[in-house]
Amino acid sequence: MKNSVALARTARMIEALRQRGADQAQDVTARPEDGSAGGAPPRDTRRPRVVVVGGGFAGLGVLRHLEARLPADAADLELVSPTDHLLYTSLLPQVCAGEVEPRHLAIPLRASLRRTTLRTGHAVDVDTAARTITVVDGNGSFRLGWDRLVLAPGSLTRTFDIPGLAQYGLGLKNLAEAVYLRDHVLRQLEYASTCPDPAERRARGTFVVCGAGYTGTELAAQMRRFTLDALRYFPRLAADDVRWILLDRAPRVLPELDETLGAGALKVLRDRGVEVWPQTSVTRVTADSVTLSNGETVPAHTLVWCTGVTPNPLMEKVGTETSKGRLVVDERLNVPGAAGVFALGDAAAVPDVTRGGAPAGQTAQHAVRQGAAAGRNIAASLGYGKASPYRHRDLGFVVDLGAGDAVANPLGLHLSGAPAALVTRTYHLLALGTGTNRAHVACDWLLAAAFPEQVVQLGFLPPPHATIAEIEDTRLYPN
Ligand SMILES: Cc1cc2nc3c(=O)[nH]c(=O)nc-3n(C[C@H](O)[C@H](O)[C@H](O)COP(=O)(O)OP(=O)(O)OC[C@H]3O[C@@H](n4cnc5c(N)ncnc54)[C@H](O)[C@@H]3O)c2cc1C
Repeated sequence: MKNSVALARTARMIEALRQRGADQAQDVTARPEDGSAGGAPPRDTRRPRVVVVGGGFAGLGVLRHLEARLPADAADLELVSPTDHLLYTSLLPQVCAGEVEPRHLAIPLRASLRRTTLRTGHAVDVDTAARTITVVDGNGSFRLGWDRLVLAPGSLTRTFDIPGLAQYGLGLKNLAEAVYLRDHVLRQLEYASTCPDPAERRARGTFVVCGAGYTGTELAAQMRRFTLDALRYFPRLAADDVRWILLDRAPRVLPELDETLGAGALKVLRDRGVEVWPQTSVTRVTADSVTLSNGETVPAHTLVWCTGVTPNPLMEKVGTETSKGRLVVDERLNVPGAAGVFALGDAAAVPDVTRGGAPAGQTAQHAVRQGAAAGRNIAASLGYGKASPYRHRDLGFVVDLGAGDAVANPLGLHLSGAPAALVTRTYHLLALGTGTNRAHVACDWLLAAAFPEQVVQLGFLPPPHATIAEIEDTRLYPN
């Protein structure tokens, strides 16, 4: 009896393996490499496994498409992400300025995906020959097999080899950095307000933002307003004690966007009292100074680094061609030379066919649409529907400067002031992934308009752990 059960089981396994075919993933090795029990849920090994790395705009877009288009038994869907939420980055400056609560920008992945298994951890290596990735989580590391691999781990703050930057520069790429930056600014106001030395008071009250792209511009505009408002709780400080300096090596603000948007934003920045220094960059940073490319040294205890992003180092692990660190893909988001691998979002150089094949911009707009395109093409590769190239016409950009001011060019229409602010906030509410997030953010805006600022520090992160490398986990990827 025992023998016949064992024989039947073996026959079933052989049949399952035969059906799986050569194209299918290696068995799951979803357990710590130390051999202790791992968390792999049981799966039907005849089904192909689609593993998505990164639950941001691009990765979530892929999975939403696959959940909607693939029959339930067509594939096992798995997501590897260090967090259990997608971060709606566009409103991060408003977390610093206190207009939006941090949790309200976190779009829950478990609530957004119905039949995807979420594994919280970092993918740190890719083996395209064995068809596995290595994942590091709180319990150690494990390997995960895949039939289709989607790489969408986004990007990290781009830093340069500038002395002192790694130690003293502050980034703005995730919620921890946004909350820390707000605390840090309030701490400087606190020190400045009790400081007997005028020079030190001035250094504490001087905030330098490097990078006048949309992140730096929004941040400087909104934080200047926030710090001036906060002065009501620091009666020893005057408006002149608080300086916000926005600098960029480019000749104008918002260099990556339309000139009209740049001119509109510059007017708001100047009206608010932000000092804008074009064609200037940073050459050295210390705890209490920022030295500039023109030789000037600005006494300041704050440098916020908003000069752009660098693709996630995971992309270099694939072993195929990269362009400035972004993994090169074709128009269908396939990685040439790595069968079954797709890449998209900030971490991939996706040819934009509407701009002669130049790499698409690193924006949420592109990432979301690439997610849908990749989802379609992965489904096609599994026998459902037809593959097609990624194509996206730019719909314009919105830049929220806070306090009812914005600049925007939806569908090529140039707007500023209240109409732009209305379009900008409507856009963000529509783009936020869930009704719950929309309702929370809308209430945050109403409350911020109706009540005085809550000037408090949350203190979640002690200062020694606030470097960009520490908060953005850049040390996870060994060379
Ligand atoms: C402050 C700020 C403001 C912005 N404002 C705008 C805006 O107004 N409009 C706009 O269009 N764009 C904006 N962007 C750009 C936009 O956020 C990005 O272009 C977009 O997030 C890219 O999507 P993605 O899916 O490639 O990456 P992300 O959305 O960053 O998602 C990547 C995901 O991968 C995860 N991940 C990282 N490493 C690993 C790993 N090793 N293994 C597994 N998962 C990993 C991350 O935790 C993250 O969840 C802004 C960016 C910032 C930082």
